[in-house]
Amino acid sequence: MDQVLHFINGQCVAGNADRSQAVFNPATGAQIGEVQLAGAADVDQAVAAAKAAWLSWSELPALKRARVLFKFKELLELHQEELAAIITREHGKIFSDALGEVTRGLEIVEFACGAPQLLKSQFSDQIGGGIDHWNLRQPLGVAVGITPFNFPFMVAMWMAPIAIATGNTFIWKPSERDPSASLLVAELFKQAGLPDGVFNVVQGDKLTVDALLAHPDVAAISFVGSTPVAESIYLEGTRRGKRVQALGGAKNHLVVMPDADLEQAVDALMGAAYGSAGERCMAISVAVAVGEIADRLVQQLSTRVQALKIGDGMQAGVEMGPVITPAHREKIRELITSGVEQGAQLVVDGRVCTVPGCEQGNFLGGTLFDYVSEDMRIHREEIFGPVLCVMRVRDFAAALGLINRHEFANGVSLFTADGHTAREFSRRIQVGMVGINVPIPVPMAWHSFGGWKRSLFGDMHAYGEEGIRFYTRYKSIMQRWPDSIVKGAEFSMPVAK
Ligand code: NAD
Repeated sequence: MDQVLHFINGQCVAGNADRSQAVFNPATGAQIGEVQLAGAADVDQAVAAAKAAWLSWSELPALKRARVLFKFKELLELHQEELAAIITREHGKIFSDALGEVTRGLEIVEFACGAPQLLKSQFSDQIGGGIDHWNLRQPLGVAVGITPFNFPFMVAMWMAPIAIATGNTFIWKPSERDPSASLLVAELFKQAGLPDGVFNVVQGDKLTVDALLAHPDVAAISFVGSTPVAESIYLEGTRRGKRVQALGGAKNHLVVMPDADLEQAVDALMGAAYGSAGERCMAISVAVAVGEIADRLVQQLSTRVQALKIGDGMQAGVEMGPVITPAHREKIRELITSGVEQGAQLVVDGRVCTVPGCEQGNFLGGTLFDYVSEDMRIHREEIFGPVLCVMRVRDFAAALGLINRHEFANGVSLFTADGHTAREFSRRIQVGMVGINVPIPVPMAWHSFGGWKRSLFGDMHAYGEEGIRFYTRYKSIMQRWPDSIVKGAEFSMPVAK
């Protein structure tokens, strides 16, 4: 059985805390490892290492920092199948999807390799007699990344490469449910020549997060996970004077207009609702059928949902793997039952699903609801499972209204053949990431990722230029040299002369 340790100051260490937790393969239900859970003493050690490393790392030219990232990118490419296999083994998503996750993470490493260009500043010559003015973006210090179970590699890549490229040092606290990818990442950073202490991993849970939050030498926290935790980390972190971005949960809608290509919309909904067993923050969990298209949409979805190929994500041909834990499966079942009780029509019931050879796995079948209404828990709450709710609305304005009233606002999508409707939708929808005939509009590495409302606490989105801003502080510098210095004090507001 694998022992999943911490990685502090360039070494795998067991840590001081006498706490650990079992790690399971969700497809078989078998325990495959044991992860250490760090306490305050381990956190102190990691922060001390990161703080010490920061002194020289932040002084290194951005070009040299970027060269380490170039090497890291090459190593990731060489190890992508190994990484994807670790992800599938502990998370359960199908192997091709895990490979996709690795690619999307790698793309952010590629973006961060442009650090010298990304950190270029602005300069104004001669803002007054003999005076020049420019700005710098300087690193913050020790940055922490706390990540969710559903992307055990990619979400950390939203953070670490950019933090490191901009001259910070980094501590990653992965999800305790699928922690092993973090140690391969640490090993590859080391092989790439990253100095000890610049990238560290502390395994752990809430107590570990509390210690990181309380530590005075942690300058910034990037969090991705559920909304209640995101909100509490944002409030506590900012109260302690740290810079915090905290990305939370979601309820993403896909609107199908009557003029949409139905076949394309059904394909899009199948992938976006049931891919990764619905455990994606950008998964589509609500299809909003506008007007008369609803009956045909539900009919086609129903056939497709019943035909989903469910099994161990390492098996060829499987389309959907298990959910993360038995407890999470129970929570999803309970929400499905609440939908029935509150009057939604259960078209396909996935509550019971047995996969031959994987009887102990955490499997659910695909579930499809019709006639879901706004007040139902299955619409208000994030289910984070393979459950798609169809809501029927009269027209475009009703679709827009119901989405804009929701507390979550991560992603949204519209399927239509009409450019004007698409334009109106993009401008009027109150959601952070919008797709037009694109079901999962996850921004590419050089744009930025983030929702609105209770899907993100903080001012800056993740990665892209927003990521560069998050991990740096703006400094304005004004300079004048002796032979242009005017003698005598100035008591009125300085203006250009
Ligand atoms: P989670 O909130 O349970 O855990 C996220 C991280 O926080 C983990 O590292 C965990 O150890 C830690 N944690 C858990 N409870 C904590 C507590 N009380 N105090 C401090 N730390 C705590 O989330 P999860 O179940 O791992 O992930 C699923 C959630 O993440 C979903 O809500 C999903 O929408 C969200 N998510 C959001 C995005 C986004 O970009 N908005 C991306 C991926 C996942």
